[in-house]
This record gives sequence, C-alpha cells and structure tokens, in this order.
Amino acid sequence: MLDLKQLTHVYPNGTRALDDVTLSIPKGMFGLLGPNGAGKSTLMRTVATLQSPTSGSVTFGDIDVVREPERLRRTLGYLPQDFGVYPRVSAYDMLDHMAVLKGIASARERKDTVETLLNQVNLWTVRKKAIAGFSGGMRQRFGIAQALIGNPELIIVDEPTAGLDPEERNRFLNLLAEIGENVVVILSTHIVEDVADLCPRMAVLAAGRIQLEGAPLDLIARA
Ligand code: ADP
Ligand code: ADP
Repeated sequence: MLDLKQLTHVYPNGTRALDDVTLSIPKGMFGLLGPNGAGKSTLMRTVATLQSPTSGSVTFGDIDVVREPERLRRTLGYLPQDFGVYPRVSAYDMLDHMAVLKGIASARERKDTVETLLNQVNLWTVRKKAIAGFSGGMRQRFGIAQALIGNPELIIVDEPTAGLDPEERNRFLNLLAEIGENVVVILSTHIVEDVADLCPRMAVLAAGRIQLEGAPLDLIARA
C-alpha cells in the first residue's frame, strides 16, 4: 500500500503543483487521470524520490519515502514520461548494463533476469538490435523491462501511451495489467480509456487537487 498524506508541492516560482493531496493506493493497477498541468508528473516524481515535497508524507509499507529514498529505490521501478533517448546499444546489452547499475553483480543472475524480461515484454527476437531503431511500442516495452529489473513492488509509469498507435497501446496496456496483478502499479495518463479499460481503482487530479477517487465504473455512473 502506498499512502500519500497532505502532500503539497510548491515550485520556486510559486506554482502550487500539488495541493494537500491525500490518497491510498492498494496493490494492482491504479490510474491517475488528469489534464496536462494537473500535477501528475510532480506526484510521480515525488513518489519516485526524484524531488522532495514542500510538505506532507509518502509511505510505502514501512518505508518513509521522503526520509528513506534509498530504501524505496531498491523496490521501485520507474518509467518516466521522457524515456526516449536511446544509444546504439542492443536491447540485451542495455538491460544487462542497467542490471549492473541496479546491483545485480552475478553474471549468471543477470543473464536469467535479462532473458526473462526480454521474453516477458516480447522483445526476445530483437534483443540484438539497437534500441535506436525500435518503434514507439517497442521502446515503451523496453522501458517496462528496465523498470522491472530487480522485481520492484512499486512501479510508476508516467504517460506511457503517448505516441503509440492503437495496437501498440493495447499490447503495452495488457503487459501492464499482467504485471499489475502482484504489485502496486501507478499509471498516469490524460487518456480516460487507458484507465477505464484496466484500472480497478483511479483518482482524478486537476489543478493539484484530487477531484474524484474510486472505481472507474462507479465514477462514470455518478458523472
Ligand atoms: P502534469 O504531469 O499533470 O502535466 P506537472 O506535474 O508536470 O503536471 O505540472 C503541474 C504544474 O506545475 C503545471 O502548472 C506546471 O506548469 C508546473 N510545473 C511543473 N514543473 C515545474 C517547474 N520545474 N517549475 C515550475 N513550475 C513547474
Ligand atoms: P509494436 O506494435 O508492439 O511496437 P511493432 O509493430 O513495432 O511492435 O513490431 C512488430 C514486430 O516487428 C517486432 O516484434 C519485431 O519483430 C519487428 N520489428 C519492428 N521494428 C523492428 C526493428 N526496428 N528492428 C527489428 N525488428 C523490428
């Protein structure tokens, strides 16, 4: 369970990107829906320990995320919104390199990890190709593979379907849904269908505040 309590973020220029956000996020797929500028990325970056809130708390199980960022990072998988600059390195070598950075020292363990992930995201047949040549859908599936290194229990995915065609989008969302059965997955998006199709729970963020929270079908019924 991820718990946000009275989370507020004010940027130096005075923009109140998050304004007293309190939210409990259970295991499974959780959709964070909101228009551009709502504060979604600010929320995601705060949970991913890339920035500190102005006030309020974030806890994941017994981890105080703001005070113990290094503990959270050990169990965090993050696919940022701008994950898109790729070198001329193969998918296999890049994942292997990222596994080293995540602290998987044993070559044998890395081989197992990288092979399993490449199969899981359906990139095994292109593992030796440069990521620079991948399509948008392949890049995002690679992005999920790198986020899954080390079996994280919290996965954060920021606006992942932007720029994907409908088939790529479906394939990507189905992959997320499979992963989301066992861990907390937060999917941030401005696309209602992304959330309605596969998130049992969701919240709507606008102007830094939670406007609605619940099951998508209940929220649609109330609207
Ligand atoms: P979203 O991801 O929902 O589009 P953001 O979290 O990126 O929303 O932005 C929320 C608000 O904070 C917007 O008004 C945005 O312009 C502002 N903002 C984001 N980053 C910064 C920053 N580094 N400095 C100042 N304002 C920012
Ligand atoms: P997705 O729709 O999931 O992005 P694509 O339609 O881009 O997948 O690709 C489907 C298949 O076509 C891939 O699994 C791969 O076998 C092949 N393919 C597409 N682009 C490339 C590429 N740049 N290099 C190698 N194979 C590719």
